[in-house]
Amino acid sequence: MTDTDRPDTDRPDTAHLDGTRFDTAAIHAGQDHDPVTGAVIPPVHFSTTYAQDGIGGLRHGYEYGRAGNPTRTALETQLAAIEGGARALSFASGLAAEDALLRAVLEPGDEVLLGNDVYGGTYRLIDRVLGPWGVRLRVVDLSDTEAVDAALAARAPKVVWVETPSNPLLRIADIRALADKAHAAGSLVVVDNTFASPALQRPIGLGADVVVHSTTKYLGGHSDVVGGALVFADRALAEKAQFQQFAVGGVSGPLDAWLTTRGIKTLALRMERHSANGQAVAEFLERHDRVARVYYPGLSSHPGHEVAAAQMSGFGGIVSLALGDAAAARRFAESTRVFALAESLGGVESLVNYPDAMTHASVRGTELAVPDDVVRLSVGIEHIDDLLQDLDGALAAL
Ligand SMILES: *Cc1c(COP(=O)(O)O)cnc(C)c1O
Repeated sequence: MTDTDRPDTDRPDTAHLDGTRFDTAAIHAGQDHDPVTGAVIPPVHFSTTYAQDGIGGLRHGYEYGRAGNPTRTALETQLAAIEGGARALSFASGLAAEDALLRAVLEPGDEVLLGNDVYGGTYRLIDRVLGPWGVRLRVVDLSDTEAVDAALAARAPKVVWVETPSNPLLRIADIRALADKAHAAGSLVVVDNTFASPALQRPIGLGADVVVHSTTKYLGGHSDVVGGALVFADRALAEKAQFQQFAVGGVSGPLDAWLTTRGIKTLALRMERHSANGQAVAEFLERHDRVARVYYPGLSSHPGHEVAAAQMSGFGGIVSLALGDAAAARRFAESTRVFALAESLGGVESLVNYPDAMTHASVRGTELAVPDDVVRLSVGIEHIDDLLQDLDGALAAL
């Protein structure tokens, strides 16, 4: 096999799923019963290599584990179905997915226009890894229409990178409006859909070219597997990224792919509870005297509420709050009991994070710095009364 003629692995036949609803596709896409045993749950394929029927006689395109693996194929089929894309690719982490995409689309001298509170690791990847290879970066507030117009008019970027809701300030960008403008300027539109998940928001249907995920978060959903994904509206671009996946090798391992597939089967149910709990927590905090500000797109006081209500079917489980000063924010983050003090988000269990010194420490002092009185909550799917009691106790102790 040469570098350029890498065969496409067979995708399981999911034609019978056409027209099924999200919840059904999440459970069945890519999950064809094992043809030999009838096993309802397809087995995890650990084999790194595949017997050939004569030289080059591949069965269903499988040859070597980096190039293709049936468990990864099953996950990629499921991801494409739930995001409404033509093709998906699964990676070892969200950042490995981002790296493969950016290598596939950028050349030295190209520019990425980045929202001003995207995930800090995305900023670091473009600034410190791709920057030395000649990739340029411009940062703009994507919820500010005039700033976006000016940025696109000044010099068309190769890529417009959108994260909505954003991390940790839950800013909302209008995906359809941004996609229309960016496409008119000739730019590619990438949406990091990690916070909403496809259960609540499907960017390809709103005009995005590529969706990025850290499947570590809501898709895996149980804080037990690191992974990432790309979903493409267009097959030709998917093939360029697939070449990067194959040639660089940041693929997901079989067990990681299988755990992610299992997580996705309950995504719709989990996101309903995350959203209900998130809304209740946000409303509770908004009423509380000790809280200076609450960031949650489900609150009518949120500046992006209308856009979020139009492009999302729920507001998700991430709620941030400002406590007026850094000392109070730190004390609060260290005194909850049900909410564990930890990085990451999107699992069934509730977590509390102090971005300035934890998740966003790498963007301190940059345009992406987070105010030092902000605390981010990843609201889990526990009983709401236990969550509110815990938050109330931590606020009372301030
Ligand atoms: C966590 C995260 C990433 C990075 O994903 P990893 O799986 O940690 O590599 C990217 N974007 C967002 C919004 C994230 O929360």
